[in-house]
Amino acid sequence: MDLATVLLLHKSSFIVGALCFFYMRWRSREPGLELLAVGDCFLAFASTLAGMGEQGSLPYEIWTFGSFSVGVTGYALMAVGTIRLSGRRRELSDWLLVTAALALSIVVGMTHWYLDNQTRAAIFNANASMFLFISACAISVDFLGDRLPGRIGLAASLMAAMMFSALIVLGVAFPEYGPIAPRNAFFMLIICHFSVALFVVVLVQERAEAKLSRLANTDALTGIPNRQNFLACLPRQLRQGDGFIMMDIDHFKSVNDRHGHEIGDAVLVGVAQTIAAAAGRELLLARLGGEEFALFLRDQTEETLVATADQIRRKIKTLAFDVGAGTVTPTVSAGVALWSDECDATKLRDRADQALYRAKRAGRDRVETYAAESVAALS
Ligand code: GH3
Ligand code: MG
Ligand code: MG
Repeated sequence: MDLATVLLLHKSSFIVGALCFFYMRWRSREPGLELLAVGDCFLAFASTLAGMGEQGSLPYEIWTFGSFSVGVTGYALMAVGTIRLSGRRRELSDWLLVTAALALSIVVGMTHWYLDNQTRAAIFNANASMFLFISACAISVDFLGDRLPGRIGLAASLMAAMMFSALIVLGVAFPEYGPIAPRNAFFMLIICHFSVALFVVVLVQERAEAKLSRLANTDALTGIPNRQNFLACLPRQLRQGDGFIMMDIDHFKSVNDRHGHEIGDAVLVGVAQTIAAAAGRELLLARLGGEEFALFLRDQTEETLVATADQIRRKIKTLAFDVGAGTVTPTVSAGVALWSDECDATKLRDRADQALYRAKRAGRDRVETYAAESVAALS
């Protein structure tokens, strides 16, 4: 492939990247995409200057310094964009990368290193390699808190791009010993740039899907799982030791009637969060609707099931919501049912519901079991 074609391909990789990033930014509003897009525009412009220079349509001093300084700034902007996209908050130190690129341009301009093709190529690619390494590290390290598979592809593409930039430096500095000719490494670098753009799109898409799935499975008011999530997570086959706890806030309608819906909502959120905190991670819980909550537990006996329900009931009893002239102190009633008679999940939930109904009739603020048909816990 002749140099003009390779340079055209090089420029195309950045134009395609910039278009992808601008489009994704418009569709998703994910942070960092605008910087990635602008960085790619810088790199496309630097590549255009180099191409024009190679064709002799620009003075040597102009295209060599222009493509160098615009290019290193482009890589710095891409690094800041990748760090932001990775999930980091805006930090002033990010801009140190751009400042470092500008400072490097000034040094190279003052020393006239840019006039020598070998020196310019070596410094440019060493700098690109460093920015690509920083980007790959940010994407990899943040994988621990945000395990999206797209990160793996993006980090690998950035690492590969870093490696080929470093190989160009080696090939330019030690032409006899370089493991791969700079021209071939440059070609592979172009492929890596396409791959970076592709995996940024994949990552943004995966994030959007994860967000949608979170929204679809979470109750918007209380932030705990919703009915749909609860039903989807219930095991198909119940077994010995499985149990349900159904909970309902007592006289909640009067909280709304007396203090208004806003206070009612605050009470709902407080109760939901208390249940979630008490339930811990291993329990399946949900706001089934209104002021009704469900919990599913495994490896229980009737005693442990009642004890858990009663512990949550007691915790909720300690809550107090300030309403100006006084406080609202909610209580809950609970019904529990332990698996027996080969019943299915719907049947077991109905039994817990019946127990809850009995708790309401027996005076509220208590736990009733389905099986025992008696008051299991009084205050
Ligand atoms: P009981 O002790 O028998 O359960 O009495 P209750 O008043 O709690 O029962 P009821 O089912 O009659 O009332 C439930 C109320 O919950 C009615 C409804 O206005 C209220 N509610 C349901 N969803 C919400 C919500 O999202 N926010 C608020 N503020 N209130 C809600
Ligand atoms: Mg109620
Ligand atoms: Mg209710």
